[in-house]
Amino acid sequence: MKIHAVQTGTVRIKTRQRSGQGVGLMRIVNTLRDPEWTPPLPIYAWVIEHPEGVIVVDVGETSRAMQRGYYPRWHPYYGLGVRMQVHPEDEIGSKLQALGIPPQEVRWVVLTHLHCDHSGGLHHFPKAEILVARKEFQATQGIGGRIAGYLPHRWPDGFMPRLVDFIPEPVGAFSESFRLTKAGDVVLVPMFGHSPGHLSVMLNANGLSYFFAGDTS
Ligand SMILES: [Zn+2]
Repeated sequence: MKIHAVQTGTVRIKTRQRSGQGVGLMRIVNTLRDPEWTPPLPIYAWVIEHPEGVIVVDVGETSRAMQRGYYPRWHPYYGLGVRMQVHPEDEIGSKLQALGIPPQEVRWVVLTHLHCDHSGGLHHFPKAEILVARKEFQATQGIGGRIAGYLPHRWPDGFMPRLVDFIPEPVGAFSESFRLTKAGDVVLVPMFGHSPGHLSVMLNANGLSYFFAGDTS
């Protein structure tokens, strides 16, 4: 089984978003007022060439994010806290083609969460089954979702992923899980915290366990 790390551009954030200063609202204010930016950080997606079909974990950001007005101007985080660098050739569609994997042949797209730098490339996968934790999808809805920074109006028209409900089947340190493959070697586990319904992906292959942590690492 082959696993590919795919870089879909870079993002710069404030140094205090990484290290954190204060708690609650003050932590956000401190972050946005921070004059220091991180160096460009890679935006990763992962590709698993599984015998049951290709699995893509997260889809990166779209190059449209570089266009003025793509992000909501009223939102302080997009105005003050983040700078994306994504060109068309950085998008997940181009990266998959370069690996010899047509995006339309991807069977599953698993989104660890729905922040824009993990879901911006969804338009490359009109045929894949897309999975998101139910709790995460629900968090994106309504005015609360917009304030939290989700961009549901940028998703493909009619976007409706398969919503994952975890069942009480323990895996490692996790009391709940969701089995993706028939073979049972790819399992989704709840890793709530970075976002309300964040999940991570566990793969057992080649005698090793691989953990695709998303933004919890
Ligand atoms: Zn995130």
